[in-house]
Amino acid sequence: MVQCPECKTDNKKPSRTWKILDEPNRFGVFNERGVGIFQCFRCGTTFPSVVGNRQLAIVDANKYAQLNKRITALIDENTKLKEEVDVVSLQAKVDALEREVSALINEKKELHTKLSRYR
Ligand SMILES: [Zn+2]
Repeated sequence: MVQCPECKTDNKKPSRTWKILDEPNRFGVFNERGVGIFQCFRCGTTFPSVVGNRQLAIVDANKYAQLNKRITALIDENTKLKEEVDVVSLQAKVDALEREVSALINEKKELHTKLSRYR
């Protein structure tokens, strides 16, 4: 929403847009600004306004591709490690349950033995 400077009406869409690139700084970072020309739907006034702004950087294309590859590999590795952790924690739960079951079986045997003495 861009406000008309004359009648203060909010206008939604520019009639025309283009992009302006600033000079890169010493780190190769620069701004890309979107500029739009609006014509107020109420009073007809034509005025410009910034409709978007983002920061871009000049980077070595090969290095960028290498970094992308590396990030993808790290994400894959992270997913695998998480799966392994899940397997390890599930195995620990299984072990604990098995110990509990064998303890209950022993307890049952002892109770049966005690019970048989009273018969
Ligand atoms: Zn207006």
